[in-house]
Amino acid sequence: MNKIGILGSTGSIGTQALEVIENNSNYSVEYLSCFDSVDLLIKQSKEFRPQSVCIIDKNKESQLAHGLKGEGIEILSGFEGLWEISSVKVDLMLNAIVGSDGMKPSIIALNNNINLALANKESMVMAGWIIKDIQKKNSSKIIPVDSEHSAIFQCMIGESEKDINRIILTGSGGPFRSRDIDSFQDITLQEALSHPNWEMGSKITIDSATMMNKGLEYIEAYWLFDLPINKIDIIVHPQSIIHSMVEFLDGSIKAQMGEPDMKVPIQYAFSYPYRIENLIEPFNFIQNNKLTFEEPDLNKFPCIRLAKDALVSGESHQVVLNVANDLVVQKFLDKKISFNDIPNMIEKAISNHSQISNPTLSEIQALSDWTKEYLNKEVIDA
Ligand code: MG
Repeated sequence: MNKIGILGSTGSIGTQALEVIENNSNYSVEYLSCFDSVDLLIKQSKEFRPQSVCIIDKNKESQLAHGLKGEGIEILSGFEGLWEISSVKVDLMLNAIVGSDGMKPSIIALNNNINLALANKESMVMAGWIIKDIQKKNSSKIIPVDSEHSAIFQCMIGESEKDINRIILTGSGGPFRSRDIDSFQDITLQEALSHPNWEMGSKITIDSATMMNKGLEYIEAYWLFDLPINKIDIIVHPQSIIHSMVEFLDGSIKAQMGEPDMKVPIQYAFSYPYRIENLIEPFNFIQNNKLTFEEPDLNKFPCIRLAKDALVSGESHQVVLNVANDLVVQKFLDKKISFNDIPNMIEKAISNHSQISNPTLSEIQALSDWTKEYLNKEVIDA
């Protein structure tokens, strides 16, 4: 029996992870956490019987305690509670937290020699250099859950790093791939929230619409796979059937493909290095007989350029990029700013920050505080 902890269990990845576990008797859930979806957390806890659960929003703690009264499940709250369960020894911790809050639990788990199924790409963007250092010192593994990185991870098995020519991250291009750039100023929240292929949470759906998601994945790939920047490419593939590819020195290309369903990379992270059966429909090549590819349009999607530049410019740029993106996406979801404000505000924050190389955790915290303060003022002034 494999013991699994799930952080962010009420979000899109978390709920799909529990579906995978529900259909498989090899896994037991040791702990769950969520931000504030207390009713769903109570329901999940009663069904999966973890040892402990944590709710970040302390205002919901008593409701959680009431809902789980007499169940014998330990109740924790706040970020201290989250950090505490991140250090509990399990076979695998799935980090499915949304945004920057996911960084610290990843670091705590890896520091405690706990294997990490990583869906929180922001961990690598905010602290890839720190995580790489931890991995040099201990044996904890990261198994990527992001579909592109899971694909690359799978294509690299049995291969030697020196034989890799490049990795090719695919992206659907999002809902505005063929929209005229002149009408980007009129993009509504509802339009941005309708992704053509993937069912995801609201933050990542907006990231896909701006294509910042691909930018963050580019940085994530750099820190995860330890390849030079010039060996990482992005290609738009609107059908989302090829989840990413690796090209080798001899011109061979391996692609990992299938229906776009996050349960596949989630399940693979659980079963790695083995594979297990599931209920996913077999892929139909005849019905999906057109796979097309395009160059990403950096004029339409400046977020890709911002992320690429941040990777070249240095670590503090990546921290500010990520924190700024979290914040402005929330402002867009709250209808406080327009779609075009998203890249403009991120760019402003990056160009006004004081650069530091290899920031420590406390320096990352300071950069994060600065970015939030700076942008909150920008939004009020806008
Ligand atoms: Mg992805």
